[in-house]
Amino acid sequence: MARIVVKFGGTSVATVERIRQSARHVKREVEAGNEVCVVVSAMSGKTNELVGWVNEASTFHDAREYDAVVASGEQVTAGLMAIVLSEMGIQSRSFAGWQVPIKTDDAHGAARIVEIDGTELDKRMKDGWVPVITGFQGVSPHNRITTLGRGGSDTSAVAVAAAVKADRCDIYTDVDGVYTTDPRIVPKAQRLSKISFEEMLEMASLGAKVLMIRSVEMAMAHKVRLLVRSSFDDPDAPQLAPDGTPGVPGTLVCDEDEIMEKQIVSGVTLAKAEAKITLRDVKDNPGVAAAIFGALADEGIIVDMIVQNIADDGATTDITFTVPDSEYDKAIKTLQAAGTDKRIEYARISGSKGGAKISVVGVGMRSHAGVASSMFKALADKGINIQLITTSEIKTSVLIDEQYAELAVRALHTYYGLDRKDA
Ligand code: ADP
Ligand code: ASP
Ligand code: MG
Repeated sequence: MARIVVKFGGTSVATVERIRQSARHVKREVEAGNEVCVVVSAMSGKTNELVGWVNEASTFHDAREYDAVVASGEQVTAGLMAIVLSEMGIQSRSFAGWQVPIKTDDAHGAARIVEIDGTELDKRMKDGWVPVITGFQGVSPHNRITTLGRGGSDTSAVAVAAAVKADRCDIYTDVDGVYTTDPRIVPKAQRLSKISFEEMLEMASLGAKVLMIRSVEMAMAHKVRLLVRSSFDDPDAPQLAPDGTPGVPGTLVCDEDEIMEKQIVSGVTLAKAEAKITLRDVKDNPGVAAAIFGALADEGIIVDMIVQNIADDGATTDITFTVPDSEYDKAIKTLQAAGTDKRIEYARISGSKGGAKISVVGVGMRSHAGVASSMFKALADKGINIQLITTSEIKTSVLIDEQYAELAVRALHTYYGLDRKDA
């Protein structure tokens, strides 16, 4: 007998019929003698609709009310899932985040989970109940509903799994695992039977939205093994062993030590809508980078790639960095204002929207030279110009023009031998 937290994403609960299909996976686990706790997302498209309504009501809305509105989608699916499970003969009860309670900080719209009291969930499961928890949300120290940021139900599931000491956390979605790249972009992408926490963390932060970044961080910290699988698979088909035996659908996200065969490159990721900004002839004094990025951080603007050149004349330098397209205008205004009142001294500012960040990820890069150079060659062969480069221990990223993004991903996928052999 195992204790499993099972999470269903938006497409897995998109309609009552889909909820019924997903519930059959829960039923199978319960009938196998497992204790199960469910975490649900809102019906697919629902959160976007709710966000749209909030913005229509007012562009300058209070973040506490944004959370009150957008958290409602999950309340609907949690209740429906509990009803459907009960109808199947499984004792089930829904819990909103605040009822568990899932305690968060008060950063509305992007709250972080601080603590989960698993007592009630633990008791229910021991008594043979299946609790169904609303993903994506919790309660602030001021007793208000908070949400965790888009895609946050993955994080809710992992946090609940850690709190109830689950043996596994199964993430049911619309693909049957984590692929070498987004299978919607590259049909030749291959499913990985296992991927390390570290690689998954890089892939998630570089654009693979199959798992939210925070959820992987949390799984890594609490050693929660994740199994990414599809709710569209037949619930009555023979099941994957908990150790992730290959040949059955799903990807196990686990410790690197559990993976025997380490790839040099495990995946290729793509993140679009990246804007680049360059400050020219910046006074090269100590504290200048702190002043630039401090001004942006004060406005809540998240900066990604950063490149600073060596000062040719010993007095000035150029700094280039990227921000999301949606933050571009705000970032330019912030830096112009900081230039006007001399908080930052520079000669010119320029930039453009519409970049794409393409990355290759793999733990094997630690011990193999030449991954970066071969990536640049593969892109050069396709005539794709590289605008910026950043590297870390297990990834290399480049910024290119958005219009070549898919071409670049496909070229790199083929170059590193990741294409499915039968495709
Ligand atoms: P859910 O609603 O279940 O949380 P998401 O839409 O958030 O599902 O995530 C699943 C999607 O992630 C897939 O449909 C797929 O297009 C996309 N995706 C991006 N990169 C990858 C990848 N490397 N492997 C699998 N899926 C990926
Ligand atoms: N419903 C939320 C969203 O669409 C949370 C989630 O699906 O994980 O972002
Ligand atoms: Mg998701």
